[in-house]
Amino acid sequence: MASYVTKMDEDVLNRFLSLPQFGKVQAEYVWIGGTGQDLRCKTRTLDKMPEKASDLPEWNYDGSSTQQAPGQNSEVVLKPQAFYRDPFRAGDNILVMCDCYTPEGKPIPSNTRFRCDKVMDKVAAEVPWFGIEQEYTLFEADFRTPLGWPPNGFPQPQGPYYCGLGANAAYGRHVAEAHYRACLFAGIEISGINAEVMGGQWEYQVGPCVGISSGDQLWMSRYIMLRVCELFGINVSWDPKPIEGDWNGAGCHTNFSTKAMREDGGYAKIIEACERLGAPGKPEEHIAAYGEGNERRLTGLHETAAMTDYSFGVADRGASIRIPSVAKQEGKGYFEDRRPSSNMDPYRVNSMMVQTCCAIGGPVSKRSNQQSSDLTRLAHTGGSPAGAAENWVWENDEL
Ligand code: ADP
Ligand code: MN
Ligand code: MN
Ligand code: MN
Repeated sequence: MASYVTKMDEDVLNRFLSLPQFGKVQAEYVWIGGTGQDLRCKTRTLDKMPEKASDLPEWNYDGSSTQQAPGQNSEVVLKPQAFYRDPFRAGDNILVMCDCYTPEGKPIPSNTRFRCDKVMDKVAAEVPWFGIEQEYTLFEADFRTPLGWPPNGFPQPQGPYYCGLGANAAYGRHVAEAHYRACLFAGIEISGINAEVMGGQWEYQVGPCVGISSGDQLWMSRYIMLRVCELFGINVSWDPKPIEGDWNGAGCHTNFSTKAMREDGGYAKIIEACERLGAPGKPEEHIAAYGEGNERRLTGLHETAAMTDYSFGVADRGASIRIPSVAKQEGKGYFEDRRPSSNMDPYRVNSMMVQTCCAIGGPVSKRSNQQSSDLTRLAHTGGSPAGAAENWVWENDEL
């Protein structure tokens, strides 16, 4: 299936895109839609380049078209929170990460950033760092055939793809490369890329980022991926297990540290955090916030720990939490939570992480509040509720 890009004459388009814009700035406002996983955007013209996010005007959109408001009272307010250089328009144009409010100024239910920001403020003295490994799967325009796979069939089994190269292994490198450079241009702290275990699956890492900026940057990096793929006529899937069977799923390993963990003697702090993450009830709470459909991925096979078992270990890629060997050797560093899925919400995952590891109150899922809740049931019913945000309740509302 051809995309519109192949029909478009790029030389003609570029005649217009290279016209001067006489100081005006095109600002692409980006926000999270009603599923908690979809992104939306629209553009407005500004008279000058902002210096900080608060220089940008608030805006609004029709929330009834994104399942975020009823038709009769459909206005949702966009608050600019962070902005980046726009790698698509280039020049003095920007991408603006926004979060969403009612006209009365209350965060709408899907606004997970609002609480995350408060949580990060509370633990600012601990200087939390997050490094997120975003895995994703590329599909042909039909959204059925993973990129490079034969139609209606399978490529050679897993083995050559991970960090692989060559026309018969590195399917879609052009997408990964274009996205990498676009993120660098934007100012996203992208720290690397690699081809993944399943053919057509890739990873990039964002971080280490401090506090709230991790979630902002990861969401914007996903936006950039969607736009790059749109230009190539390719589809990107964030599904945690896009192809059933003997094919690896896709995760968002979350690497985490506090100032104390990074300083001498930090190893003891890392162990303490791993123990807190395993305290009664905590694994359930975390799994519930770690992404929808994750139960299809966290089976105990394909380099995962089963959803029902919590474990941590040094250099153990089969554990829920891996402590890098270098952290043990040096007695300080960080650890990696391998459970979050590729479609997770970094505002939720990062806030859960600091709340548990830095022991402050905060959000728990309704599901884990129920007495009957246990990991086995979560494994059978799905790790995270659909439309996750409205099922998100807060233990400690004055946060
Ligand atoms: P893996 O070996 O699991 O594939 P990656 O190299 O893909 O790990 O990703 C590790 C991520 O952790 C990178 O984004 C890196 O910047 C980040 N990171 C490094 N040090 C820290 C730290 N002290 N705290 C948090 N994140 C870190
Ligand atoms: Mn990695
Ligand atoms: Mn990986
Ligand atoms: Mn990893």
